[in-house]
Amino acid sequence: MKRILCLLLIMSFLVSLISCNALLSGDNTINGKALSDYSIVYSDEDLDYSKRAAEYIQSQIFERTRIDLDLVEDSEKPVTELEIVVGNTEREISNRLDADTNGLQFAILCEEKQIALEGDYFIIAAAAYFFIDTYVPAADYAATIPEGVSVHDPIVKEAKNFIMLIGDGMGFNQTKMFEYMENNVDFSDGEDMFYGYYLPYQGQSRTNSLSGVTDSAAGGTALSCGKKTINGFVGRDKDNKDIKSLTELASEKGMSAGVMSTESKTGATPASFSAHADSRNNNAGIISSQAEARDYYGTIIDCSFDYYTANYMPVIEKHITETLDTLDDNENGFFLMYEEAHIDKHCHNNDLNKTFQAVVRFNQAIGRFMEYAFYNPDTFILITADHETGDLYANAQGVLEYHSDQHTGKNVPIFAYGDGAELFNDVKVENIQIAHTFAHFMGDDNFGDQSNFSYLGK
Ligand SMILES: [Zn+2]
Repeated sequence: MKRILCLLLIMSFLVSLISCNALLSGDNTINGKALSDYSIVYSDEDLDYSKRAAEYIQSQIFERTRIDLDLVEDSEKPVTELEIVVGNTEREISNRLDADTNGLQFAILCEEKQIALEGDYFIIAAAAYFFIDTYVPAADYAATIPEGVSVHDPIVKEAKNFIMLIGDGMGFNQTKMFEYMENNVDFSDGEDMFYGYYLPYQGQSRTNSLSGVTDSAAGGTALSCGKKTINGFVGRDKDNKDIKSLTELASEKGMSAGVMSTESKTGATPASFSAHADSRNNNAGIISSQAEARDYYGTIIDCSFDYYTANYMPVIEKHITETLDTLDDNENGFFLMYEEAHIDKHCHNNDLNKTFQAVVRFNQAIGRFMEYAFYNPDTFILITADHETGDLYANAQGVLEYHSDQHTGKNVPIFAYGDGAELFNDVKVENIQIAHTFAHFMGDDNFGDQSNFSYLGK
């Protein structure tokens, strides 16, 4: 009896060894070749988007199959036998990949020994996600990739994460500065366009408050609480009563919530999303209200990251990555507002170079959020502004000029991406409808100005 038991034990051990071995040896193939024989090569340009895409592919393959592929920088190593090439590299195959892509599309070229993925900037993330989702969905999977070039759209899933990106003072012409400034100022790090213009769905928003031309407090409150109010009021209606913000709504729904800004947390925009106060200048009131939000709802408030330090962008990117990492621990999803505050300030000063610098920084932050959305396709992103500042436009000679040092009543752009984003295409909405639509997406139609409640929806 003991001997039989012992034999059974040995047998079950062997069986587990064999099944384990099958997993470890990696029966994954691509067009009949063993996945384990490939290495992953990444372009050393593209603001590290390609590098992170290659790392994503490597880690996802390992997670699914336990196959640990080599990661190689393009300039580091000559072409090896079998390669997955990520981004626009110096390798021959990158030259051969000549595809017609539009907007957020990316391209894949599959040849006998190499597979190349290409997408501009953050779009390479969509290619990496698609590659894993489609060709390495699980262990022991035999993938067939059609030979030649194929063009794809990013994968979009039902949204549970909602991100609102606000450029304070950013009108249409502020987003078009790349066209006018690129020859003059060299801090755009190779970017040639405001990333919003890659997004397929674009509309515009009216910004006036109950006081006429809005300030950032009433503008922020409209976007946050879905109700027009009087200038200066933060998260309060015209009767000086607290109104629920999207941040609070998210917390009530069991989601995580966060507020980020490149200015101090008492700034009018971050305050509108995290506090209630009778005046944007009531710093003590705003701070105590924010402390309640943090204690009661667990709202993350992450603002003013040493804006004037020289090496500013990596600091911002680190904050963005860390905040998203924390927020997405919640399986119910999250709401996040991120503001670039300095476009407004430099437009007040009619300083073109510094305005452009702030737009470029906002652009780079947008790139990181879009990258996140591609790796987490259940994410909805909307980019807009609270108002325009400086009445900026190009004169007959094509030179940008300010015609004011104040806020204006000009409409501001909306760029949207993700599940439901098409609703914002080609529309002209009131700013409060943006908040109503976010609330609707988050499952609440009893939000904001109920006498004027109008979300975009099917
Ligand atoms: Zn302003």
